[in-house]
Amino acid sequence: MLHRRIALFVPHQGCPKDCVFCNQSRITGQKRENRLTEEQVRRTIEEHRATIPPDALVEIAYFGGSFTGLPRSYQRMLLEVAKEYIDAGVVQGIRFSTRPDYITDSIMEFLIQYGVTTIELGTQSLDDTVLELSARGHSAAQVKKAVETIRKYPGIEVGLQLLPGLPGDSKELVMETVQKAISLQPDFVRIYPALVIAGTELEWLFHTKQYVPLTLEEAIDLVAGMWVEFMQADIPVIRMGLHSSEDLRTEGTIIAGPFHPSFRQLVEAKLYADLLDLVKQEVDPKEIKKVTLHPADETALRGSKGGNWKGFVKQCSPNIPLLEFNSSLHRHMIEVSMRDGQVISYRLSALADLESSFL
Ligand code: SF4
Repeated sequence: MLHRRIALFVPHQGCPKDCVFCNQSRITGQKRENRLTEEQVRRTIEEHRATIPPDALVEIAYFGGSFTGLPRSYQRMLLEVAKEYIDAGVVQGIRFSTRPDYITDSIMEFLIQYGVTTIELGTQSLDDTVLELSARGHSAAQVKKAVETIRKYPGIEVGLQLLPGLPGDSKELVMETVQKAISLQPDFVRIYPALVIAGTELEWLFHTKQYVPLTLEEAIDLVAGMWVEFMQADIPVIRMGLHSSEDLRTEGTIIAGPFHPSFRQLVEAKLYADLLDLVKQEVDPKEIKKVTLHPADETALRGSKGGNWKGFVKQCSPNIPLLEFNSSLHRHMIEVSMRDGQVISYRLSALADLESSFL
């Protein structure tokens, strides 16, 4: 089943203050004081509808701010328009992002009247010092409480947005955050390594040498380590790295930090490189006859400029293993067929047990 999202941005609106890393207006290209009118919402939905296949499952997504911190009348307008489309059967759900401290029972009672299906909590870290240094204005305990509150309303999914690499963060604290996040059992996670965006306090901290962002390589390693932990816990990571929008790519928007337009692919390629290393350690590479995987994982397995696979094949020399594809295999795993007939499966999630490769 196809899934499609109609995204509408409500940048910065509903926020009590500026978190040190955030300049939503810069990322989305919309001014903080701009409010969507009912007409704009309808127009955006109609424009998207025209391009969405009729059999797709469609969600209206309000992103970019703290939705439940918006004035109630504004929230009501946005939700009522969306619900009209739900009632007409052309849209199947509503999702938005908000702050954990803006989730209460009374807020949830209000939301469920409109068919909200997914709430994403801007969590960033589950370490109180990191949260404080980022001026988040909420604690890790409030994230837990928000998740528990949402869970009282079956049918609403909850996702956590994590930002490794904030001030005061470390690899160890990030991996502790991952374990705490897993214990909350979210339905999904997004991971956005912290970037220095123009006009934020983080920019000032960076220029005054009080903050050093992760390098791209560090961020890839760190996010790879996070992802395998979530994979092992069966929690999908639906995004890694910020979406490479035109506004984000505008010169002068990203001051520093580990931005890459294909960040997820780099993480996947790193994990496949590790997986192939693991295979070489566990079996005699010269005895490998064939490696089989899901076709959607081919690019990640081959790695940048095909380097993962070329390096692997060299180790198997003088024999050259076949590379085959099988769409009935699970994603993120490979099957290694040996010359003696043995077939061994390796999953990326197994790399979680090799913690030392990431820390
Ligand atoms: S990170 Fe979220 S809560 Fe913080 S300023 Fe940005 S939109 Fe507001």
